[in-house]
Amino acid sequence: MPFATRVHPGKKIRLSDIDPKANGGLEKADGEAQLEKLSLELGELQELLYAAGTHSLLVVFQGMDTAGKDGSIRAVFNHTSPLGQRISPFKVPTPLERDHDFLWRVHSQTPEKGMISIFNRSHYEDVLVVRVHELAPKAVWSKRFEHINNFERLLADSDTIIVKFYLHISPEEQEQRLLDREREVEKAWKLSAADWVERRSWSKYMTAYEEAIQRCTTSYAPWIVVPSDRKWFRNLAVAESLVETLRPYRKGWVDALTERGQAELTAIRAARGERGRRN
Ligand code: AMP
Ligand code: MG
Repeated sequence: MPFATRVHPGKKIRLSDIDPKANGGLEKADGEAQLEKLSLELGELQELLYAAGTHSLLVVFQGMDTAGKDGSIRAVFNHTSPLGQRISPFKVPTPLERDHDFLWRVHSQTPEKGMISIFNRSHYEDVLVVRVHELAPKAVWSKRFEHINNFERLLADSDTIIVKFYLHISPEEQEQRLLDREREVEKAWKLSAADWVERRSWSKYMTAYEEAIQRCTTSYAPWIVVPSDRKWFRNLAVAESLVETLRPYRKGWVDALTERGQAELTAIRAARGERGRRN
């Protein structure tokens, strides 16, 4: 049984049916040991992705404040090479970004072949925060689901593997995390009064997330809902989903690299042979 819930295209999803506290029946120590193995495997897969240069990987992280977007990126990508990945945070759009279509700033951050792009928030904010706070009229944001699906299709047709994670926390766990930040001096830098205000719109956010997840889950760019009240389990579930997504490509990448190695060896031998004849 996979640890996270992979959403299926065309299927209804109710976030309230998914337990944010799930732990997969594991103890924390066991979960951490499994995470270590999986993140090492992710490191190997990244090396193959990079070297083969036939595909790229786009990983999207979305979730309510404190759900752990930063934390899971740190924990899951700790055996991958910084040379092969780029992390792009998406904040409130700048005036220049706002003067373009909503995908403009996102498209420039998509991964080239061999690379991983990790989105900390994403183009989905344009159907989430924008909808919840009515930053654009419905006539504008409601057209974006189709634009997103077409955009992601374009990326997939260009050999980008896409995985999108919704980090699912409960409002109670969020409250606890916000209070912890107030109590601990080392965590206080993360405090933002706006987070308390955002909490008031929790149910509107859940409605917006459900629709976005449902309408933008496709065979080529699935959403994965990750129980995130337990940080160790969240990290494990993200790592497992990523590794399982990439494993089927391993053989193709290894074969491409072997073939390239053989071709180079042949070329080296031919070059030596020629020089030998010339010398
Ligand atoms: P943080 O992730 O805590 O650094 O906060 C980034 C903030 O930028 C969040 O409050 C997001 O909702 C906001 N944000 C990101 N993208 C957009 C967008 N397209 N429109 C409006 N706000 C956004
Ligand atoms: Mg924040």
